[in-house]
Amino acid sequence: MIFKPQKYRIKDESMINFIDPEEINDYLNRAKPTTDMVRQVIEKSLNKERLNLEDVALLVKATDLEQIEMIKDGAKTLKRNIYGNRIVLFAPLYVGNLCNNNCKYCGFRASNSKAERKTLNDQELYENVVALEQNGQKRLILVFGEHQKYNAQYIADTVRKVYNIKSGNGEIRRVNINAAPLDIADFKTVKESGIGTYQIFQETYHPEAYKKYHLSGKKADYNYRVTSLDRAMEAGIDDVGIGVLFGLYDWRYEVLALVRHTNHLEACYNVGPHTISFPRLQKALNLDVDEQYLVNDEEFTRIIAILRLAVPYTGMILTARETAEIRREVLQYGCSQIDAGTKIEIGAYAEKFQKNQELKKEQFQINDNRSLNDVIEELIEQDYLPSFCTACYRLGRTGEHFMEFSVPGFIKRYCSSNAMLTLAEYLMDYAPPETAEKGWKLIEKSMLDLEGFQNIDEVHARLMRIKNGERDLYF
Ligand code: SAM
Ligand code: SF4
Repeated sequence: MIFKPQKYRIKDESMINFIDPEEINDYLNRAKPTTDMVRQVIEKSLNKERLNLEDVALLVKATDLEQIEMIKDGAKTLKRNIYGNRIVLFAPLYVGNLCNNNCKYCGFRASNSKAERKTLNDQELYENVVALEQNGQKRLILVFGEHQKYNAQYIADTVRKVYNIKSGNGEIRRVNINAAPLDIADFKTVKESGIGTYQIFQETYHPEAYKKYHLSGKKADYNYRVTSLDRAMEAGIDDVGIGVLFGLYDWRYEVLALVRHTNHLEACYNVGPHTISFPRLQKALNLDVDEQYLVNDEEFTRIIAILRLAVPYTGMILTARETAEIRREVLQYGCSQIDAGTKIEIGAYAEKFQKNQELKKEQFQINDNRSLNDVIEELIEQDYLPSFCTACYRLGRTGEHFMEFSVPGFIKRYCSSNAMLTLAEYLMDYAPPETAEKGWKLIEKSMLDLEGFQNIDEVHARLMRIKNGERDLYF
């Protein structure tokens, strides 16, 4: 099973392109998985040993149905044994869709003259954030096109404004960013505003496919994009998110490249990405893509199971691009965060929502339009514990996924306890009575899992304090 790739890259160096397509193809070409090999790789992951690229290549090359079942079962077991049943909830807030780039898959691209351009002004930002808070949201990701208007200062100012908007018991406690790559000084400016994660997706790690899909604008520079998060790290942002837009190039190559990117960040900065996202190509205004690499549902769910096994201590984000049905299935394989109550038409949280059939104000089409409460209720019914926890980030506990994975008792002490406290807040402030009833039952049941645990009395006490009106209690 052991083989040596023909060519090893020299040591990873900061801010230098680390993706070598030949190396990745070499791993892919050599991987000839048998059922035994696949089993060994899964066992390695379940034993909390790190998978290498050779192992991951075996998983992505597995085509035999039995092997695929083993991979999905392995991911389920890993998720259950290590992470338990928490799911963190957030919402995206599209701030503006001006864009200088021409990404062929995106409705916001500069050449899309039919796209309605809009940037939220202060009043609209306020109204949208209030609407999100009044729904019960506590964690947002702000999304921007790439445009001179959305410079680092603008992004930082927007983050500060969002943190300052309060409505009753509502407040946003964590603001993440999905925006264009910056230089080091600009990343520092954004960091100072108190962001959580800075997400930048490479879209495709394959240089030729990248060139084909990114026709003009700053994003056309592959090297600048692929080293973005190196600059973020150099600027002191150690909480970063990576991702691939599945459907642009062979998914097997992209999965290995995501792992390679993870290895690069770990080698250079001693910390891997906080999250991995796996958007899948959706309909968009004038979508212009080659269909040969589109990923079907079975492959998509398999990708998620493989990533869970390959990078077990990285958070995995699944968005409302996917249908409720797909989301239900892959939650079992280890996604730790989902958005809910999502609206991606700019300004739509505050407007009476009129679905825009022509996709003029949306970047792409989403497929799960359920409300936050509907999603929460379904999670509760399926025994997941919805969480709005922001504790690690606010207490400076970075690397929380790694700690969840490797520190015994971490999940009970912090994650489960905080999930219950934040769910209790939601049930008190925003949930309709039927959801509240189901939610309190779930909290009671989840308390049983803390039986014998040192801080159980304190969790009880804090739940009582929340019932009596206190807010924002966390461990
Ligand atoms: N403009 C910034 C950028 O390109 O990095 C911010 C991100 S963009 C607004 C958010 C992400 O949406 C992109 O990185 C891309 O992966 C994804 N996306 C774009 N078009 C899409 C489509 N048609 N279907 C699904 N996801 C898409
Ligand atoms: Fe602009 Fe981002 Fe869309 Fe590309 S993906 S066109 S950079 S908004």
